[in-house]
Amino acid sequence: MVKIAVIGSCSIDLTVEAGKRPAAGETIIGSRLIVSPGGKGANQAVAAARLGAQVHMIGCVGDDAYGTMIINNLKTNNVDTGYVSVLPGQNSGTAHITLAEGDNSIIVIKGANDLVMPKHIDTAWNVIAAADLVMLQHEIPLPTIDYIIGKCAAAGISVLLNPAPVQPVPSEWLDKVTYVTPNEHEAEALYPGKTSEEILLMQEERFFMTLGKAGVAYAKNGKVHTVPAFVVNAQDTTGAGDTFNSAFAVARCEGRSLDDSIRFANAAAALSVQKLGAQGGMPYLKDVERMLG
Ligand code: ADP
Repeated sequence: MVKIAVIGSCSIDLTVEAGKRPAAGETIIGSRLIVSPGGKGANQAVAAARLGAQVHMIGCVGDDAYGTMIINNLKTNNVDTGYVSVLPGQNSGTAHITLAEGDNSIIVIKGANDLVMPKHIDTAWNVIAAADLVMLQHEIPLPTIDYIIGKCAAAGISVLLNPAPVQPVPSEWLDKVTYVTPNEHEAEALYPGKTSEEILLMQEERFFMTLGKAGVAYAKNGKVHTVPAFVVNAQDTTGAGDTFNSAFAVARCEGRSLDDSIRFANAAAALSVQKLGAQGGMPYLKDVERMLG
């Protein structure tokens, strides 16, 4: 069984639907509240577990009701939570989403996600060191990510960095990790002033750029290749990138080729966009196998 350690954020998304956005100082009645688990770290952990990996989540929640919900949801999805620390007196990470007039506006409160420290990495080191791959994103403190990347590089542990959301990061990170999976905006932020093609050619077989419904591009033998996405009727693309990352990670750890791994991941992500919610549409292994035929 493939072993994956995800080190990252675990949050609760609180989505309010309303007919309009309230103006400053105004109170309005909304139509509904949707409470759903999120956070890129937890999303990727759930996606990898549904695809058959043995997954350890490493992160922090607060000692509030949301923290309990986050941990229960990970457990329900067969993710090990032994290294999800419950921090006394802290709030769990939350995203406050207003969905009105066909658009969303979001305020993120980092909460306990901002308190993932090198000590939490050291405590979980036995499961991190035993993993086939470590998955990282940009929703925990950058100095902690720096610590993880340095420690994994020194120990020869493979790392997949999903550089989302956009943050300026030290360029040496990109040379130390095994795979980097930006979308176009994130890639531009990593190498300002360079075109997508230049970036991919600089990082052959290491950078995999997701292009939404256009699929995924990467460079091999001095040329940029695009692996097309599956054509589906998309309902909600939230979590598509997270599903892609985990499916790619699982497939690579199973020993599939780069092209096969991307195809597998494109299929998983295409299934995920056909249902609402980040985790709602994340497929199980049998669903992806059926899609690939
Ligand atoms: P992010 O959400 O991180 O910006 P993308 O939008 O690039 O990521 O999507 C990640 C992957 O999800 C794509 O490479 C593709 O495989 C799949 N995907 C996204 N949108 C669609 C879509 N409308 N139809 C089919 N596949 C999609």
